[in-house]
Amino acid sequence: MTGRSLELMYQFLICTSSAFVAVAMFHVVFPKKRKPEIEDEECQFSSFVKTAAKHGKSTVISTVNELLDAISKAMDTQHTVNMNSKPKLRNDMIVDQIDLEISRLSDRLFTILSEATIESLPLLQLVKKGRRLPCCALDIGGTLTKLVLFKPGGGERDLKCETYDPDREFCSDADHDSGSIPVRLTSTDVIHLKLYSFETKKIHTVVEFLKARGICNVRISASGGGGHKFQELFQREIGVKLSSIDEMRSVITGVNHRLLTGSQEAFHYRWGLDAERKAYVSFAGKKSPFPYLLVNIGSGVSIIRVDQMDSYRRLSGSCLGGGSFFGLCKLLTGKYKFDEIVEMSRRGNINNVDLLVSDIYGQGFVKDIGLSDDLIASSFGKVAVADHSSETFCPEDMVRSLIFMFSNNLSQIACLIAERERIENIIFSGGFIRNNAYVWSKISFGLDFWSGSRLQALFMEHEGFLGALGAYLLHDKHEEEGEGLSAASEEAPASPGS
Ligand code: ADP
Repeated sequence: MTGRSLELMYQFLICTSSAFVAVAMFHVVFPKKRKPEIEDEECQFSSFVKTAAKHGKSTVISTVNELLDAISKAMDTQHTVNMNSKPKLRNDMIVDQIDLEISRLSDRLFTILSEATIESLPLLQLVKKGRRLPCCALDIGGTLTKLVLFKPGGGERDLKCETYDPDREFCSDADHDSGSIPVRLTSTDVIHLKLYSFETKKIHTVVEFLKARGICNVRISASGGGGHKFQELFQREIGVKLSSIDEMRSVITGVNHRLLTGSQEAFHYRWGLDAERKAYVSFAGKKSPFPYLLVNIGSGVSIIRVDQMDSYRRLSGSCLGGGSFFGLCKLLTGKYKFDEIVEMSRRGNINNVDLLVSDIYGQGFVKDIGLSDDLIASSFGKVAVADHSSETFCPEDMVRSLIFMFSNNLSQIACLIAERERIENIIFSGGFIRNNAYVWSKISFGLDFWSGSRLQALFMEHEGFLGALGAYLLHDKHEEEGEGLSAASEEAPASPGS
């Protein structure tokens, strides 16, 4: 056994035995009923320790020791508390004190471990080995194909990527330039990725986009169903081998990376004020976003519980997502461009198509039953009871009503699942929420309404590109599995068909 293995085993033993001691002490201090939050913290703590052992971080061990000290101090306090106060009060004070200590130390452990986990991302192994970075990655979804493209010279240190022509103009009504994002790889290395989206039904434009820039005969990480479906097409047309990456794993890697390294990524939306606005929440090096519920609204909807960087579980989903919204809008309006439909919705008024509680009860009475006048009782309910010989409905109102209907429905499902799972951070992503303040305000309102103001929605600024970012960060996965391209072939400037 090598010295390093012995050291890792030693750290593992210390971490796990410390965890057992900590958990045992909890049981000594609070033998029967403990607050549910304490159980959550304890559970989260044990999982941190397990991950710490995996990463062999000695700093974690001293943090664990600090926790043990804090618990024994809390136990001492139990003896010095005024003995005249009621036993329940004494117990509560100590629970609160331990609760505070655990959440403080959990946040510190989280910071150490998130650094360690980011460092272990496959792409970082390329940076460490001085290898060229991949020039791009794809997320080929049911509606949209998202592409992240390395922007040369964007960082302080000039990291190199596979050769391609970055300045090549490419015009197509199918490609959508969505700016760029900085991606922190190490404490000193930041690269920039340009973001593009294409309609998946016009997948040939993606092939042409890559071909125009000389991106041929390389391997490209691709998440989403298209990463399987279009393998043959990419190989045949430009010699590109699509390495399919698990869709859920890439979106969560992308979300986690943005949460842990970006300051302007997750935001709450303040609605119902004179000036509605985004309020950014930074987790980077500060506090743990875990566990959180990810509600990814793409063509369909996935609802995923994320407990740690690499620990997640799909809990639920819905077939009523962005694809259903877009499809119904096309049928109702005859318009075929998503942005045009969103623009129309800004001029709409849902009261013209939706049935309000006050429409059923009459004005004024509703307060007696605890509901407000303008609450929607039935989406499209006014259309259902209309006399169609005299009434017509305008597309702007219908589209706005549909946005409300989908946002309200999904916020209610998210709320029910979050309450069942006892999760407070609920994060929305996916193309449906793209650049749409009405969607943000209705989802925020819905979550607030259904949870009795207990839960607040968070939105991802780069909503649709997280899967492509994750696929980029996971690029080296196939190398780990021993099927990597040789360095020479990676660096060779490629040409179509060569
Ligand atoms: P997928 O990966 O399943 O394609 P996305 O996260 O890309 O899912 O989101 C697709 C959804 O985003 C669409 O169903 C639609 O509601 C919305 N959307 C946003 N922008 C566009 C656009 N330019 N064209 C089509 N749909 C768009």
